[in-house]
Amino acid sequence: MFSRFQRWVVPVTLVLGCGPMLTGCRSGVPAQLLQRFEFQQPHMGTLFTITLYAPDESAARAASGAAFEKVAALDRMMTDYDPESELMQLCRKPSGQAVRVSDELFDVLQKSQRVAELSDGAFDVTVGPVVRLWRRARRTEMLPAPEALAHARAAVGWRKLKLDARSRTVTLTVPDMQLDLGGIAKGFAADKSLEVLKQHGISRALVAASGDIAVSEPPPGQRGWRVGIGKLGGEKEELARNILLNNAAVSTSGDAEQFVELAGKRYSHIVDPRTGVGLTERLQVSVIARRAVDTDSLATAVSVLGTERGLKLIEARPEVAALILRADEMHRSAVESSRLKKFNVGRAGQ
Ligand code: ADP
Ligand code: MG
Repeated sequence: MFSRFQRWVVPVTLVLGCGPMLTGCRSGVPAQLLQRFEFQQPHMGTLFTITLYAPDESAARAASGAAFEKVAALDRMMTDYDPESELMQLCRKPSGQAVRVSDELFDVLQKSQRVAELSDGAFDVTVGPVVRLWRRARRTEMLPAPEALAHARAAVGWRKLKLDARSRTVTLTVPDMQLDLGGIAKGFAADKSLEVLKQHGISRALVAASGDIAVSEPPPGQRGWRVGIGKLGGEKEELARNILLNNAAVSTSGDAEQFVELAGKRYSHIVDPRTGVGLTERLQVSVIARRAVDTDSLATAVSVLGTERGLKLIEARPEVAALILRADEMHRSAVESSRLKKFNVGRAGQ
């Protein structure tokens, strides 16, 4: 399901030819003979869209089919909605037991722990117990009971999750821990889809999973994929930007649809792991980096850290940029990191 912050993709004017400036001849098919294809499938509770350039329809179908299969396999592995997923089987193991997991699950957990460390615990995949309470709050329209929150918080904390890189084992060190990969799995899957497409000879592609977008090489004759970010739903578009991405990714967090309104307050589906409470500040954070696994998790982290600390985290990472939009009853404002200029190609609509 697409969010209210519709992201849109408009490849810039097609330039034909396969001269020395273009890289499209490498695959053996001249760039001007590649055609554009688009495919969509629902996965991970959202719609995945793959846009790619291929010599013909059968090549496009075979490659996108394999990429979607990869996403489906990662979904089966990482979902917390299916008790039989590898992730949920891991969470049922007795605390303190080192459990060998598949390479991909280990990789995504290792990446999660790195972002947890970088963000001082703002990004934290051990938030499962509190996320469950907030999901219930959304259904029942009642705030979680303070005792239930306190109990859940005792099982939250990224340092309670231990990874051993040599044995590729995972240990949940306290009882009742629940891992939740909702803030990183889509980005991970978008990156993996591009890898599968490449294995099928497709080097010019864009994979979008609602707020997470990863691209490989640009459409033939173009410098990048043009992607719109920072559009505030049905609001005026003055804060929106068009960015140009080439072998890069962008994620947007802070979806206005994913919230619960209780006692006159809006609580986001993103929680502050330190308090166990859904965020109440209206932020929309877009992060650009090389890989979607990073942009997805960093966008969630910056949402929790807030503008000032979040921007500091972004500026400290080479090759990472961010656009942060703040909205309150009175006004809206945009803050951008210094490296956003590298990608920015003007206000949306231009
Ligand atoms: P979206 O799913 O809209 O792209 P995010 O990437 O920000 O949004 O992920 C939000 C999801 O991540 C939540 O639904 C929840 O499953 C999980 N989550 C919530 N808070 C955190 C947090 N502080 N750190 C890591 N994951 C979180
Ligand atoms: Mg995220």
